[in-house]
Amino acid sequence: MRRISIFGATGSVGANGVDLIRHAGGAGAYHPVALTGGRNIPRLAQMARDLRAEIAVTAYEDLLDDLRAALAGSGVEAAAGEAALIEAAARPVDWTLSAIVGAAGLAPGLAALAQGGVLALANKESLVCAGALLRRTGARAGATILPVDSEHSALFQALGNETLDSVKDVTITASGGAFRDWSLERLAAATVAQASTHPNWAMGQRITIDSASMFNKAMEVIEAKEFFGLDAARIKVLVHPESIIHAMVTHHDGGTIAHLGAPDMRHAIGYALHWPERRPLPVDLLDLAAIGSLTFRTPDEGRWPALRLAREVMAAGGAAGAVFNAAKEQALDDFIAGRIGFTDMAPRVEATLTALSGEAGFGHDPDDLPTVLYWDGLARRKAAR
Ligand code: NAD
Ligand code: MG
Repeated sequence: MRRISIFGATGSVGANGVDLIRHAGGAGAYHPVALTGGRNIPRLAQMARDLRAEIAVTAYEDLLDDLRAALAGSGVEAAAGEAALIEAAARPVDWTLSAIVGAAGLAPGLAALAQGGVLALANKESLVCAGALLRRTGARAGATILPVDSEHSALFQALGNETLDSVKDVTITASGGAFRDWSLERLAAATVAQASTHPNWAMGQRITIDSASMFNKAMEVIEAKEFFGLDAARIKVLVHPESIIHAMVTHHDGGTIAHLGAPDMRHAIGYALHWPERRPLPVDLLDLAAIGSLTFRTPDEGRWPALRLAREVMAAGGAAGAVFNAAKEQALDDFIAGRIGFTDMAPRVEATLTALSGEAGFGHDPDDLPTVLYWDGLARRKAAR
């Protein structure tokens, strides 16, 4: 029986993971160890009861009594707070889904890697802020990191057994988000509600807004660099409004292998769950004749400065990823709270990168968690000012 844990189970990706475990869990195929969530205690408790998890953890210490009460009589252990998340992540399992949103996913992800097994990584923020540290932690424990972000899962599948030597470049697609066709003037006045809708994907609010600002794609370019060890010049972004092709690998011989599928995260999560096998998944199959046509455009970096910033972050290396991610998280908090406008986010992030690039140690890859958190805290304070 495979032991599994899901971090961020109550979120959009996490709940899809829970559904897949339910779907694939016939005849007791899985032994769920830890499920974690945030403020939605009823949802977390229900999931933990349904899956008969060993332990349910909320990120918030003040909710421990609520969680205990919601789990009363179930036999599921209740715990709360950051230390409890890390303790739960260190429990031995074969497969962990890392689906917490933001840099908060890094510490549990590192703990999960250190105990070995497979880390199915949706939490792209941890690769952006500490790619080298994650890879090293995983390698030391003999753990495997598999991509769950749809574009990176698509690249992983399109690459197959080829080595990077034959690869000329890779392309990840971007739907263009909610504001694909908006004028720059209109963008400046975009509201949180308008930015929180997505034409093709149902996702958490933060990644949905990041899709509208292209910060999500910027993060994904860095994620591709960190995951596959590709240099920045070999990673391209293509706007593809239909979100049917998720990524493409172009070889030196002129052949391009594309990965297509309906925009449904259960494909990428399920692929990582069953890897290296492929099993049937509860997803819609493509009907290309019904879709009719697929369209593409070159992204305009003037309109989406986040893409240019991603290239600058990759060129700078060192702590730039941690600063970029944290400044972006702070700017997003400020936009959601109504303190800044939609088009103020990128200048905020850029100003933070510029201000901190002169600090001692900025050029070095953060090689432990406290160093990542140091840069993360510094960047959030700077970006908030
Ligand atoms: P979400 O907001 O729907 O869920 C986030 C989860 O993290 C929830 O369970 C929440 O309780 C938990 N959480 C939030 N703050 C936390 C904290 N400080 N400490 C511990 N737990 C916390 O987010 P989502 O859309 O499911 O995205 C999760 C991750 O997956 C993100 O890194 C996102 O970029 C990535 N991702 C999401 C999608 C998608 O389709 N939603 C696709 C690709 C990648
Ligand atoms: Mg993605």
